[in-house]
Amino acid sequence: MTAYTGDTMEAWDTRREKIVKILRTNEPVSLDYLCQELRFFDRRLILEDLHHIALTLKKTESKLIMVPPTCLKCGFVFKGLKKPKMPSRCPKCKNERISQPLFQIK
Ligand SMILES: [Zn+2]
Repeated sequence: MTAYTGDTMEAWDTRREKIVKILRTNEPVSLDYLCQELRFFDRRLILEDLHHIALTLKKTESKLIMVPPTCLKCGFVFKGLKKPKMPSRCPKCKNERISQPLFQIK
């Protein structure tokens, strides 16, 4: 038997707390900025964390605000995303240059 699960949960909680701290700023921050601040570069996991943070915040006064990603070619805005997401290509013009979503907790 090991404490593997416990340790993992603890690391996860700490990272999530750090994200919440970083996002309680005046300006929305990008996914890359979060990665650098956390020194953690698995964007998929950070997006997963953000999703859980959003759900947790629903029970409080604060909420997670996401400035949606935008296609840098045709200006298509990825509105109505149910989960924090980093799209890889535009559904309209198939361009792969997409701006990063920005996040903030208010
Ligand atoms: Zn486009």
